[in-house]
Amino acid sequence: MKKMVKITLVSLIIGFIVLNCHDGFGSVGGTITVVHTNNENWIINYNLDKKVVGIMLGPETKTYHESSWNLPENFELVSEKDGYTWLKRKDSKGFRKLSFNIKTYSEMVLYAPQPFTVFDKGVSINTGPLGFSCKVNLFGISEKIYEFLPLFTFKGAKDEKIIIPGESKTENVSIPDLGSFVFFGSKDAVEETENLQLIIDDDFPQSIQKHIAPTVKRVMAYYDKNLRHAIEKKLMIQMTYETDTTVQYLIGGNAQNNQFSGKARGTVAEEDVEELVLMNKAFLAHEMAHIWQVKLGEDNMRWYAEGGADLLSYRAMIDMDIMKEDYLINRINECFTESKTELEKTSLEAPQIQGYPQLNYTAGMLTLIAAEFATAADGTRDDIFKIDRELGKTSIDSLNNFPQEAFNKTLISLGATQESVSAIEYFIHNKHENPHKAYMNLFNKTGVKYEVNEDRLLIRE
Ligand SMILES: [Zn+2]
Repeated sequence: MKKMVKITLVSLIIGFIVLNCHDGFGSVGGTITVVHTNNENWIINYNLDKKVVGIMLGPETKTYHESSWNLPENFELVSEKDGYTWLKRKDSKGFRKLSFNIKTYSEMVLYAPQPFTVFDKGVSINTGPLGFSCKVNLFGISEKIYEFLPLFTFKGAKDEKIIIPGESKTENVSIPDLGSFVFFGSKDAVEETENLQLIIDDDFPQSIQKHIAPTVKRVMAYYDKNLRHAIEKKLMIQMTYETDTTVQYLIGGNAQNNQFSGKARGTVAEEDVEELVLMNKAFLAHEMAHIWQVKLGEDNMRWYAEGGADLLSYRAMIDMDIMKEDYLINRINECFTESKTELEKTSLEAPQIQGYPQLNYTAGMLTLIAAEFATAADGTRDDIFKIDRELGKTSIDSLNNFPQEAFNKTLISLGATQESVSAIEYFIHNKHENPHKAYMNLFNKTGVKYEVNEDRLLIRE
């Protein structure tokens, strides 16, 4: 049997963060100016319209901040118990203005937004990790989380072209919640069509590079047809490559709003080309699924985001004949064996906070397969595409604030029984003393057709 490249490897290093954490009290505006002075150097200027006591920069990325951020003496970065890093004054007082230097960081950042992407013909800076939300001190009594919505102004080094997804101006630009990768560099780095901006590094291995644009276009058409239409602006894709002769080709990255960034490294041996091309296509389809799929809940629903992006992308690739069905069958078995020891230690509710982020992909995907089977109680089994489309009819308020209820209602409306929905919810909310038994219980209650031989799980589609 031909060896299979583990697609697992890819999905594990793809981060998608959901940061909707504001209390709805108010927002902070003003401006952030991002200046690319030269080569690796940037100056960031905050000029906010209200005093803040902290700016939330996303999940902890110590190595990046320690090596690249040069803050004034009276400022510091604090990791709080919410798992996020906050930019604060050392004396805890409020501030409106702050100016400091950052150096370009070229390493891959796992499970947090990628701060930079470096190309041969330019560099992209991610505005997200400059502030996702902030804290304001109200009347010296209590601290409240506010939305962080300053406008951005970008200034490039000499002769640099600046490309902001979905925008033509470079001053006072409003950037969506999660931030954007803004490209500074040569204009010939960009391939542009009516609905796509594509930046691919010059030295990207040809054998893989030539499949990127055609795959993106096919997957785009497929998701447009089978999921809700989520892309109002152009889709922007940035793919960078670093030579590294010590490892086999691998890729990771993250999606936000209507764009994603991929970072690849490693060598492509002749005999592995076919598998690595497939792995790369799977990466593209996974990241694109994040852009089209419904945004459900916050960090506690990452199992839906990641398990869903995997299942959507596998099903799409099988349907388009890019991937054989055996891949999914094999992957299901891997998810089963890989997730069992971890389910003893943590539930599927925010396992990344307990240090088991892979569970979002593995147990997340199996939960969604059980959900697909559960909808068959009325005689028709609906797939993840139908589930996601149906979920998309729910109000934004319910999706954000009552995500589990919204998910449950969706399954019921597609024909699932209350008993099967409760079984799914039970599986998600608990860690399991005997995960094997917990899976069997989940499958039995949701009507999954499966066989278990020793420890191997077989689910026939
Ligand atoms: Zn993902």
